[in-house]
Amino acid sequence: MSLTITVDVEDWAQSTLDSALPITERAARNTHYLLDLLAESRRTVTCFVLGKFAEKFPDCVRRIAAEGHEVASHGFGHVEVFKQTPAEFREDVRRSKGQLEALTGMAVAGYRAPDFSLMRNSFWALDLLAEEGFAYDSSINPSFLARFCVPDWPAQPVSLALPSKRCLVELPVATMQCLGRSWPVAGGGYHRLLPWPLIRRAIAATLARGEVFVAYCHPYEFDPAELADKTYHLPLKTRLHQGLGRRGFETKFRKMISGFESCRACSIATGKQWPIYKFKEKA
Ligand SMILES: [Zn+2]
Repeated sequence: MSLTITVDVEDWAQSTLDSALPITERAARNTHYLLDLLAESRRTVTCFVLGKFAEKFPDCVRRIAAEGHEVASHGFGHVEVFKQTPAEFREDVRRSKGQLEALTGMAVAGYRAPDFSLMRNSFWALDLLAEEGFAYDSSINPSFLARFCVPDWPAQPVSLALPSKRCLVELPVATMQCLGRSWPVAGGGYHRLLPWPLIRRAIAATLARGEVFVAYCHPYEFDPAELADKTYHLPLKTRLHQGLGRRGFETKFRKMISGFESCRACSIATGKQWPIYKFKEKA
């Protein structure tokens, strides 16, 4: 079927260390760097833009839209879904969607939760997304190893049978089946650490089966010097977990976009009738 490349547009420290931190100029610089790379390669992607980023760098969001990329929502403040009440979540996504639509003049169809934090305990958020006018969500990570995940979730897109009877398509990020388990292989830290031949094989095998591969990355992964430049103390564990593999990330990304055709996430969500997913009754 297709590869879709998604980018969570945000600031590393604000999204990873503390959501109260400011969005830095570096986040915009890294995003422009990635946009230059995509323009040079004539590739369009889906950008899930954080509201706090859009508030500080509206011109960067306008550039994303003007260059043919899909602008979708990454929420406003980068607070995990399960830490929000339904009312707070609704306010966060409504603010983000309205802001992005005002900036670009285009409807926002997709949403991705911070850190894939939409899990079984926060499935109520799916109904709220449909109510707020989103056509699809791409917040579920069906791999068993990720920090936030839903390991028994379908690996391919589904059309959700929501309690409200509204429509919402779920585009889970890619996984790879091995030894009877779903392994993470979609992007971010996994693309920093996994060797390119393995990533290539996972994408090629998925496409050969006629299936969808949803990949993701962040602008800061194209910036190997970021952590070394931080003046405040960062624990060694954070430096390793967040910094390892950044140096080789761009090379792998370039191989991915030159080796495979890709399309925007909204085209996949609306491109066909996906199987209906019925939620299990609560025990
Ligand atoms: Zn994020």
